[in-house]
Amino acid sequence: MKILVTGGAGFIGSHYVRSLLSGAYPGYENAHVTVLDKLTYAGTLANLAPVETNPRLAFVRADISDMNRLRDVVPGHDLIVNFAAETHVDRSITSAGDFVTTNVQGTQRLLQAALEAGVRTFVQISTDEVYGSIETGSWTEEEPPLPNSPYSAAKAGADLLCRAYHRTYGLDVRVTRCSNNYGPYQHPEKVIPLFVTRLIDGRPVPLYGDGRNVREWLHVADHCRGIQLVVDKGSAGEIYNIGGGVELTNLELTERLLAAFGVGWEMVEHVRDRPGHDLRYSVDSTKIRSIGYEPVVDFDEGLAEAIRWYRDHEHWWRFRS
Ligand code: NAD
Repeated sequence: MKILVTGGAGFIGSHYVRSLLSGAYPGYENAHVTVLDKLTYAGTLANLAPVETNPRLAFVRADISDMNRLRDVVPGHDLIVNFAAETHVDRSITSAGDFVTTNVQGTQRLLQAALEAGVRTFVQISTDEVYGSIETGSWTEEEPPLPNSPYSAAKAGADLLCRAYHRTYGLDVRVTRCSNNYGPYQHPEKVIPLFVTRLIDGRPVPLYGDGRNVREWLHVADHCRGIQLVVDKGSAGEIYNIGGGVELTNLELTERLLAAFGVGWEMVEHVRDRPGHDLRYSVDSTKIRSIGYEPVVDFDEGLAEAIRWYRDHEHWWRFRS
């Protein structure tokens, strides 16, 4: 089995690769993994350091928008798991074009290269943000995408291209839509590592607006287990929500982080809200649960472990852009 993991030097993709190569997924102990990554500011080979000497790992520095490189690299792989994307909503507000290039055009080129090479299965890692914002209840996979930020709109465009490559060409494409991930190796621009690294330095944390936005938190290990389940037991052309089940307002999340550092609200700096900031995301995970998904990482334990990781890996985050 040869697996191509695009964006495998980022936060979630590298967790998936480290898990695959360390035997965490039964049946994949002999799998060969190619990581294709552009190594933008968000990706680093340091994320693959624990498995860098594994003979079953190959690394290719390339852009998923580069069709010539894809035509070289993709043939011979049985499975593609596409994590590669521009991922930071704030950056999408100031430079939306990069998000369209990678998330939409890059995904289309990867789908096309997969089709041409006869790749058996293509798994697209998407996001709950494609659904928009929901005040009560949870989205099922039947809900139409109603994205609000350039990031989520570009991810929704990619999802629709995945559907089109399945419907038009019969490619076995599966899409996962997960909630907010947390855990070690997450870039310090994202809220949990941003707050944790600021608090390690004794600096105030920036809280958007009134902090009442609600997010559903999912440990990266549970997310990657869900992805592997979709690889093993999912069906072609289907979408699978992957939720963590732990809903917190940003105020509640901030409170937990402040408590972990033994400091109070004097360490919070209220900043102007993000334009178009979605109030709440919530996915209904019934469909993936029906094929065996169950998140196992307790949020408080996972958060404490992540905080320890950032304390112990200062060299990893201090000099990142
Ligand atoms: P990340 O920003 O940490 O990593 C993205 C990786 O993609 C980096 O290694 C980067 O170098 C690479 N990349 C970017 N552009 C590329 C290109 N043109 N060609 C090749 N590689 C490129 O992101 P992440 O948090 O690990 O997210 C991975 C996937 O999961 C993304 O598709 C994202 O939309 C999705 N997702 C993430 C979250 C979350 O909470 N982090 C939630 C839902 C969905």
